Amino acid sequence: MRLSLTSTERQLRDEVRVFLDTQPERARRLPHALDERIEALRDWQRRCYESGFVGRAWPQEFGGAGSPPVEQIIVDQELAAAGAPEFVNVVGLDVLGPSLLRFGRDDQRRRYIPAILSAEEIWCQGFSEPEAGSDLAALRTRAVERADDFVISGQKTWVSWGQFAHWCGVLARTADPSPERPRHRDISMLIVDMRSPGVEVRPMTQITGHAEFCELFLDEVVVPRENLLGELGEGWKIAMYTLGHERGTAALPRQVKLRTWLDRLTRTAAARETGSGPLIDDPRAQAALAQSLVAVEVLRHHAYRTVGEFLGGGAVGPQSSSVKLLMAEAEQRLAATALELLGMSLQEAAPADADEDEFWEETYLYSRAASVYGGTRQIQRNIIADRVLRLPQE
Ligand SMILES: Cc1cc2nc3c(=O)[nH]c(=O)nc-3n(C[C@H](O)[C@H](O)[C@H](O)COP(=O)(O)OP(=O)(O)OC[C@H]3O[C@@H](n4cnc5c(N)ncnc54)[C@H](O)[C@@H]3O)c2cc1C
Repeated sequence: MRLSLTSTERQLRDEVRVFLDTQPERARRLPHALDERIEALRDWQRRCYESGFVGRAWPQEFGGAGSPPVEQIIVDQELAAAGAPEFVNVVGLDVLGPSLLRFGRDDQRRRYIPAILSAEEIWCQGFSEPEAGSDLAALRTRAVERADDFVISGQKTWVSWGQFAHWCGVLARTADPSPERPRHRDISMLIVDMRSPGVEVRPMTQITGHAEFCELFLDEVVVPRENLLGELGEGWKIAMYTLGHERGTAALPRQVKLRTWLDRLTRTAAARETGSGPLIDDPRAQAALAQSLVAVEVLRHHAYRTVGEFLGGGAVGPQSSSVKLLMAEAEQRLAATALELLGMSLQEAAPADADEDEFWEETYLYSRAASVYGGTRQIQRNIIADRVLRLPQE
């Protein structure tokens, strides 16, 4: 992969930097209350979109800029390096939007894509169920086909941003399981309007104290036939494409963000005094920071390889599972290092900066989810064993 920027790409990078310098978010903390936070984040995504920094590689006819994909990667890395907030419509941008572009009809793309880019309409992903997480093909939500529509009943869980979403990509069974066919052949993907009668959303509180995800109950929800994404029975294929995107393409901006966090932690360790001098002079602190740096660097190199293959025209395939594993590893190691270091300074001196402690506590608690969402650590290892290394089946 080419690592240096062309003059056009350098110009784009500089444009993002100038834009960021004029934005108050860099200095301002987001509101604590979740609904206010969501509104602030929607406004942020809208402003970035209007400045040309969202959907750069998406087709112009559907509201994108039609530029080479590398441009979006440059923008995302600059935003991450500046500590800018992540886009609130992440499910639309990284998960279901790419599936709409790949499998949707033109009328669906025209209807949904521009509002995904501007965050006018938020999307959520209705895949997991109480008895179908890792084993997604065991899902039981049922969509009964009628002449002009489908009627969906079932329960989804862990639906991120479900309480704020306008649309949900729901995986549902459109045929009864049969011993004649693999069970994933009966699954279809439907676009569900979250304001439909029969939709009930119950927020669930995470260990961070925020309720970012929900249970979703669907009780005879009527979905027009035109909201079928792809063909009937093509839901599994779409879901696998979707998950590949979720796992693979986020890695480059993520490693930039982790590096900025590591630099922040290093500065904090330099500023914190312990009874015997600055925290950063303690060899235990140095060793822990060095291990985190190794994890972030390993992620960076793997991310370049995966994204390089994607930019070269390849699909985001099962190799994205190694990047997903390394992302979780780097994030969890860094967050644990932060807690360890802040703990060491607490033992010896009064906390110097309560905001900093709060940031790391929340980062640590959220990092626990990194090896679960998008497929657990064990499932990524299974994928690597089966589909990358081609090890014999158990
Ligand atoms: C923050 C967060 C956001 C999420 N957002 C969404 C969302 O928006 N939409 C959505 O649909 N889902 C979402 N999820 C759900 C996520 O995809 C599931 O949690 C994940 O797939 C695991 O499923 P499960 O929780 O049912 O665990 P289970 O599948 O019950 O797994 C339990 C444990 O068993 C292990 N295990 C299971 N099967 C195997 C196997 N074959 N081999 C080895 N080990 C195995 C797992 O690794 C895990 O440790 C989110 C999860 C989190 C944490």
